[in-house]
Amino acid sequence: MTIAYGIFSGGLDSLLAARILVDQDIEVRLLTFVTPFFSAKRAKISSQQIGLTTRPVEITQSHLNMLENPKHGYGRFMNPCIDCHALMFNHAGRIMEEEEGDFLFSGEVLGQRPKSQIAWAMKLVARESGYADYILRPLSSLKLPPTKMELAGLVDRDRLLGLSGRSRKPQMELAAKFKIKDYPSPAGGCLLTDPIFSNRLKEFMSRTKQLSHQDVKILKWGRHFRLPGGSKLVVGRNEKENEIISKLSKPGDFILETVNIPGPTVIMSGSDPSDLELAASITVSYGDSEPDQLYKVILTSDDGKKCLEAVRQAKEVFAHLMII
Ligand code: SF4
Repeated sequence: MTIAYGIFSGGLDSLLAARILVDQDIEVRLLTFVTPFFSAKRAKISSQQIGLTTRPVEITQSHLNMLENPKHGYGRFMNPCIDCHALMFNHAGRIMEEEEGDFLFSGEVLGQRPKSQIAWAMKLVARESGYADYILRPLSSLKLPPTKMELAGLVDRDRLLGLSGRSRKPQMELAAKFKIKDYPSPAGGCLLTDPIFSNRLKEFMSRTKQLSHQDVKILKWGRHFRLPGGSKLVVGRNEKENEIISKLSKPGDFILETVNIPGPTVIMSGSDPSDLELAASITVSYGDSEPDQLYKVILTSDDGKKCLEAVRQAKEVFAHLMII
């Protein structure tokens, strides 16, 4: 039996691509890649609609390495889609080889996305993946030259599709035909296409050489400030965030918390002592404090605890320091 490995996001296009191959009696094995920017949660649910399960494949470290300096640059935000697709196909290709599968596929549609799904970019993705001869795009095959798999008779080209362009209508019609009802919106679910997260990431990467999993985790939570001395402040917005943020502090970080009033948990990293006074003031100002009153703030560091005092100020005073 022919075995095909699909890069599966759980979106409609990847569902349809998989379903078309299932209809050809090909054994379809779905792979969903996992990084701090996207998870397999939605894809797991989606795959059930076509009677398959998807296998989560963790690629965080190689994705972070690529993200620091993507060979083909970023998209509109911090999304390095060409390099990201190539990386996924590369990982999928290695799995295919290990498990003696026959080819790879994805739900890419020619001309659907301005940067990563135009003909030259799709060709580039295939070349950069190291598995160009093994990649099939079942939804657009009839608009692309026949692949080795089609020529060898592993796939019946006549039962593949020739979709192209940005319209989603043909996919919707096919979804109705296959009774696929529940799928996430296209490109949703990737944090690298989120404008606010992208700004935070860009700002962070402009100041650091190496991006760690821990760094990315904390970028997802709280309000972020860059203080004049260079320290980074992350301010929890609610109880849940306070709890998460405090677990994400690293050795060398300062943690600031109000004493007599409810307030945010604040992590200060970079920890330039010249920024401490301002950090304490931000901590008080985002707590349940009264204007112009003096409050105590506990500062916890690797050296123990210390008490600071700060006055509540209007939040507008810190607006220019906020990374949004
Ligand atoms: S949208 Fe995100 S997951 Fe999709 S290819 Fe681009 S960077 Fe990768």
